[in-house]
Amino acid sequence: MSQLPHGGVLINRYTDPSLADSLTERCGRLKSWQLSDSELCDLEMIASGAYSPLTGFMGRSDFKAVLDNHRLSKGLPWTVPIHITVPVSFASSIRSSEEIALLDEFRKPVAILSVSDIFEYNALEYAHKVFKTTDVKHPGVSALYAMEPRMLAGEVTVLRRRSHRTFNRYRLEPSEIRDLIQDRKWRTTAGFASVETVHRREEYQIKCVMETVDGLLMHPFVGKAAPGEIDPEVRMKCIEALVDGYFAKDRVLLAALPGRPRAMGGREAVFQAIVHKNFGCTHFIAGSDYTAQERSEARDLISRFEAKELGITPMFVDDAFYCKACGTMATERTCPHTGVGRLSFSGAAIQDLLRKAKPLPLECTRAEIGLIMLEAVRDAKKP
Ligand SMILES: [Zn+2]
Repeated sequence: MSQLPHGGVLINRYTDPSLADSLTERCGRLKSWQLSDSELCDLEMIASGAYSPLTGFMGRSDFKAVLDNHRLSKGLPWTVPIHITVPVSFASSIRSSEEIALLDEFRKPVAILSVSDIFEYNALEYAHKVFKTTDVKHPGVSALYAMEPRMLAGEVTVLRRRSHRTFNRYRLEPSEIRDLIQDRKWRTTAGFASVETVHRREEYQIKCVMETVDGLLMHPFVGKAAPGEIDPEVRMKCIEALVDGYFAKDRVLLAALPGRPRAMGGREAVFQAIVHKNFGCTHFIAGSDYTAQERSEARDLISRFEAKELGITPMFVDDAFYCKACGTMATERTCPHTGVGRLSFSGAAIQDLLRKAKPLPLECTRAEIGLIMLEAVRDAKKP
């Protein structure tokens, strides 16, 4: 039996293609609002059903329930607020039940929002409940403080699939991934979403889980890189090389995940698990880059839900390292050797080696990936 979407039905908010042109024309007569990059990614995820059961952007009652109870107002587990924010001047020009044209980065209409709710939110409360800090040094909090002060909620009707410049062969929507999982007859599938390059550490964590399931959805985020992060195109090249060279072909699907992580810790682990349930996964490899404390917070949050209401199994694998004495990758759970024989490579250490044009050790990453990353650093330095 295939995995049921969250809430039981895979949502589809695309309009019938035969109506797309007339709806586009109608957009020209409506008030319009241009979405931010992350709001456009959310719109894409709502349209395709990746955020099932959401049919649009959250109203006040869902927003409050998510913040307070980690659930939607009707009780279904949901941990991350999904919203559009607008300035007070725009919000006060809109009536509830009015239709608004939502525009993309080129100011082209992409969807119609049927406004159900316009409301003010408290940014400090949001920060405290979601990020557990109000400190602006936290990347999620600083993004939150930069948001407009009103939320605009309502169902969306999306005109057509978003066109992208990059990763088109990997942009698979939940229904397409579900078909591929079914074709392959996988009864269990683990999802893995990462904004990092997959090095030996993550490869080991993924493969520990793969020993227990039928298939893997390798699902790197492809949203714009933050300063200091690796270019998503370079990262995809690394992951292609890894999958090509080191994974059993009939056990892995590679696809692009719109957007980027939100630095929401345990809430994010549960949210990504739910999103991957909608993509047809039965398991989710959570928090590969989490600290031990973040992992324990995520486990605490997950334990508040009954297994059947979550409907997907989040899998946590401890932080892995290369142990010289074991002669293999290992974790605290498996390796008895402590001290110098254990090799771990932080993101900063990897960046440092790359900056000095030094090859990454094979205990850190596969040779092919090390070369791709070195080349990318070299290319970036070229005038
Ligand atoms: Zn060892």
